[in-house]
Amino acid sequence: MNPRSSNQTSPVLLDAIVVGAGFSGLYQLLLLRDKLGLSVKVLDAAQGVGGTWYWNRYPGARCDSESHSYAYYFSKELLDEWEWSERYPQQPEILRYLNHVADRFQLRPDIVLGTRVHSAHYTETDKRWHITTDTGQTYSAKYFITAVGCLSSANIPDISGLDSFAGDWFHTGEWPHEGVDFTGKHVGVVGTGSTGIQAIPVIAEQAKHLTVFQRTANYSIPARNVPLDDSFKRYAKENADHFREVMTTNTNAHPFRISERLVHDVSEDERHQIYEEAWLKGGLQFRATFKDLLQNPDSNRTAADFIRHKIRQTVTDPVKAELLSDIDHPFAAKRPPIDSGYFETFNADNVDLVNLRETPIECITPRGIQTSKAEYSLDIIVFATGFDAMTGSLLKMDIQGRDGMTLQKAWQAGPLNYLGLQVPGFPNMFTITGPGSPSVLCNMPPAIEHHVEWITNCIEHLQKNKIDSIEASQEASERWVATVNAAANETLLPQAKHSWYLGANVPGKPRVFMPYPGGFLRYRTRCEEVVKQGYAGFRVERESAS
Ligand code: NAP
Repeated sequence: MNPRSSNQTSPVLLDAIVVGAGFSGLYQLLLLRDKLGLSVKVLDAAQGVGGTWYWNRYPGARCDSESHSYAYYFSKELLDEWEWSERYPQQPEILRYLNHVADRFQLRPDIVLGTRVHSAHYTETDKRWHITTDTGQTYSAKYFITAVGCLSSANIPDISGLDSFAGDWFHTGEWPHEGVDFTGKHVGVVGTGSTGIQAIPVIAEQAKHLTVFQRTANYSIPARNVPLDDSFKRYAKENADHFREVMTTNTNAHPFRISERLVHDVSEDERHQIYEEAWLKGGLQFRATFKDLLQNPDSNRTAADFIRHKIRQTVTDPVKAELLSDIDHPFAAKRPPIDSGYFETFNADNVDLVNLRETPIECITPRGIQTSKAEYSLDIIVFATGFDAMTGSLLKMDIQGRDGMTLQKAWQAGPLNYLGLQVPGFPNMFTITGPGSPSVLCNMPPAIEHHVEWITNCIEHLQKNKIDSIEASQEASERWVATVNAAANETLLPQAKHSWYLGANVPGKPRVFMPYPGGFLRYRTRCEEVVKQGYAGFRVERESAS
């Protein structure tokens, strides 16, 4: 079907609409358009491609996956021609990469920027999705695919008085393009997750004074970022097949495997040596030192104690050191941040730490932040307070499936889904990296490539077999959510009480473990089995039935 030329009143008729022009949306467009020959448009509210990397421009923004693995692997030419400059890619470099992808594969003509999707309603009569946007343009498509990212809906805490604040405030996920000048300013940062831990050292260098407002202390491993030398760049390219193989056959889609060794297989000295080497090497590989770190509380405690000890060694002020190392959850039960000088920053004279557990924020005043103990005078407040993860961006759209069922209602008790790819009652709607997918527990690009290819193969199957619609069944979806939660309960992950994995960081959000924690390989195997069994757990409607 060819898109019809559009105006404000007549919908653009398409085979597929994709919402979001980040890693997922770009690849989904390429496959549906160039592999299947479908008419497709990608809609995105931003003025540029890049998704999360378009919005997250806060100081220090950098990926925690190593750059040679934080890339598409579907195109050898793309892998060969792109050069990463550092061990971990910085936000501007990732954004350049995604713009390069959009140009290289001529994706731009099918991307409509500056367009926010307001609603997407499925109608039984024509078995199509009808989409409205804030530009007034409407669309109608057989397939509705969300590529909105897991961490894209900013969680701005509802603190009274924010409107009265006389200074400037920003959320890290909606950072101004022109940047923020902290020179000579008194700055407050609220939040010490991966984002805060990246931003705090950079802001501290510039600001006159920085106050960090910590509610929950966090583990962090040194990133040990370095520029990449030519020999590593060559090595990564020459071994791309090997890296692809490792990433697609392990638990977390990173280019390394988690050790098979258990913590108590080795002596205390040996264990200490292993942790020490991993600490020096830096990055997420620390988490891969032992197989049972996320399963066995005693094993986990050995890693947690090692990191706490490092914090106390690094931070010279014993009061700050105690606050920073008083961590209430197992190591890696929240996504473990990696940092460049985070704990060292607290040794600077211009950096203070406020313990919100002891003295919670009461309100924001025109001058700054008022806790139960004191008022902190600030020129700028930075909220590094995370996201309404995995479901936030989906629920912001008015999505209605069969019989006018809203996604809000369907997900009242938590995000019911099948394989993280579909929601019962929402035919031909696919959710790339949706709740129930392993995505955020993985290095994202390989997970995204998998989801996008699975969806593409499914749509190809529908097209070839003249199938009107595919829809996850209620039973299969209930079983899948139970599988996800059972897999989570086999680990220490649910023990992080405020984690966004559980939706616990957003007041009122149902507490259901959202990403699939059973491992990327197990997930991929399950998805393959489902296809081999004739899309088991999905219901289809054939054209003849309509
Ligand atoms: P986050 O992990 O949810 O951390 C949010 C922080 O804000 C926590 O310290 C939280 O404290 C605090 N907070 C939230 N609401 C608050 C309130 N009302 N008052 C005081 N403190 C409050 O969010 P994030 O740091 O943006 O990271 C989210 C995810 O994005 C990461 O887990 C990671 O997957 C991804 N990310 C990755 C990178 C990278 O690749 N390097 C960088 C940044 C982010 P509590 O813990 O007490 O709730």
